[in-house]
Amino acid sequence: MTTIPLTLGMPRPHPASQHGSAVLVAEGGGPLVDTFGRVHRDLRISLTDRCSLRCTYCMPEQGNEWLARASILTVDEIVRIATVAAAAGVTTFRLTGGEPLLRADIADVVRRLAEIEGVDGRPVELAMTTNGIRLPELLPELIDAGLGRLNISLDTLSRDRFRDLTRRDRLDDVLAGIAAAAASELRPLKINAVAMRDVNDDELVDLVQFALDHDAELRFIEQMPLDAGHTWDRSRMVTRDEILGTLATRWTLTPVPGRGGAPAERWTLDGGSRTVGVIASVTAPFCGDCDRLRLTADGQLRNCLFSTTEYDLLPILRTGGGDDAIDGMLRSCVRGKLPGHAINDPGFLQPARGMNAIGG
Ligand code: SAM
Repeated sequence: MTTIPLTLGMPRPHPASQHGSAVLVAEGGGPLVDTFGRVHRDLRISLTDRCSLRCTYCMPEQGNEWLARASILTVDEIVRIATVAAAAGVTTFRLTGGEPLLRADIADVVRRLAEIEGVDGRPVELAMTTNGIRLPELLPELIDAGLGRLNISLDTLSRDRFRDLTRRDRLDDVLAGIAAAAASELRPLKINAVAMRDVNDDELVDLVQFALDHDAELRFIEQMPLDAGHTWDRSRMVTRDEILGTLATRWTLTPVPGRGGAPAERWTLDGGSRTVGVIASVTAPFCGDCDRLRLTADGQLRNCLFSTTEYDLLPILRTGGGDDAIDGMLRSCVRGKLPGHAINDPGFLQPARGMNAIGG
């Protein structure tokens, strides 16, 4: 049985312990444990809502009404929040957006976050999700600054499809970014692809092969209702089972055990060391093991991609609040986390922010 030390408040029973017995929920100090016993160790940090692409499933063609520049967190503010989170047991930061490489101070952000130590005295893990376009020019500096891992997004290998899907003719730039990452020492390297019916569902095998050729793991993502235009249609999404069915025509897939809190289920290909992953947020949600929190570029903490509640850190940061107030806000956010994202419930409401403004 796991017992979390209580420093404030009354002990509350764990409603659905994975261990089958009650644990206590920390109200202050100690790890970030929610009311369902999930321990939060992963903070997704969105650095900007702006992007160099306009993927149809994420952003409207004309872009959004951008977040107000004055509300965007400075490097100092991001580092301050991240330091408090690390002291509360967070061990991984993932930089995202929008497109994180559009931040002019990206190398500084990486360098300063990479210096943060977790509660065990070891440096936090620092990862980034990017469209890769600026990697050829920035990657050496980012590695020098302490970047540890990369996920690069690529939904199609066809130039025409890429232009239609992203509304930008930049496939060659993305491919150059992937080539730069493949030539670097950063491993494991992952490539994210959103599978879409009649858009790229005839390329699933080719995308996996492309990843293998670049010493990377392909991760298919089920399309989620997070587009800024609120046009998501369940019938247009390609499901986990369909993806696996297609891949099984080319490889023998064997499940990789020990997923833990990771969003992707993984399979080996033909019993070898190479793998493919599927993030089935819609048809096989993994909320019961979710260990993630999100920080938007404008200082809002979120406990779920699909949450309609945000916890505003800006007033604390900008009116002289202490680190204890940031810690308290992290804990309020964690305490408010629901058991699941409810995409599949009839009353599901899509969050007002699109994925680019939440941080994917
Ligand atoms: N700009 C970076 C990139 O392209 O990877 C980081 C931000 S992007 C929002 C992060 C990831 O979210 C990408 O892999 C993207 O494909 C994915 N994504 C965006 N909207 C999505 C949606 N509606 N459903 C599933 N995945 C989505």
